[in-house]
Amino acid sequence: MIANRETMGKILFTEEQIRKRAEELGEEIARDYEGEEVILLGTLKGSVVWMADLMKEIPLDVKIDFVSASSYGSATSTSGVVTITKDVDMDLFNKHVIIVEDIVDTGTTLNYLKEYLKERNPKDVKICTLLDKPARRVIDLKPDYIGFTVDDLFVIGYGLDYDQKYRNLPYISYLENNE
Ligand code: 5GP
Repeated sequence: MIANRETMGKILFTEEQIRKRAEELGEEIARDYEGEEVILLGTLKGSVVWMADLMKEIPLDVKIDFVSASSYGSATSTSGVVTITKDVDMDLFNKHVIIVEDIVDTGTTLNYLKEYLKERNPKDVKICTLLDKPARRVIDLKPDYIGFTVDDLFVIGYGLDYDQKYRNLPYISYLENNE
C-alpha cells in the first residue's frame, strides 16, 4: 500500500493540532526550566518528527541527542527485555534531561531507559511524550509532559510506523483491522 495523505487510516490529530500542542508544551517546559540548559534526548526512530517540532518551541539553551532502545518479549507483561541499540553520546552529568518520546504504551521501554540514564548522574530526567496510551500500561510510569492521550489503538504517522512505513505522514491516524 502506498502512503496516501488522504486515505491512510482515520485521522486523530492533524499537523496543525500537533504544532499547537508543541507550542503549548514548549512554553510549559521553558517556564519549568527558566534560565537553565536542557538536553532533549530523542528516542529513535519514532520521536524525530515530534522532536523537530518541540525543540523549536523551547526558548532556552537546548542541546539534543538521540538514543535507541528496543523492547522484546511480551507486550503485556513487565518481563519485556530492553536493549540499547544506539547509546547516548553526550555527557549527562549534572544536566537536566528530558526524554522526548513518540508514544508511551506499556511503559517498559521508558522505565528501563530512565533507570539506565540514572547511571550517568544527570540532575534530573523527565519525559515528554507526543502520545500517551495509559490503557496499556503495565508499569506505573507517568510522563511529565503529554501531547495527547489516546485510546488503545494502533497509531501511525508523525514518526510512528507500521512495519517501518508511514513515519512521514504529517498527521497521526490509526489503522483499522481491514487496512
Ligand atoms: P512500551 O515499552 O511503552 O510498551 O513501547 C513503546 C514503544 O512501542 C513506542 O516507542 C513505539 O515504538 C511502540 N508503540 C507502542 N504503541 C504503538 C502504536 O500505537 N503505534 C506505533 N506505531 N508504535 C507503537
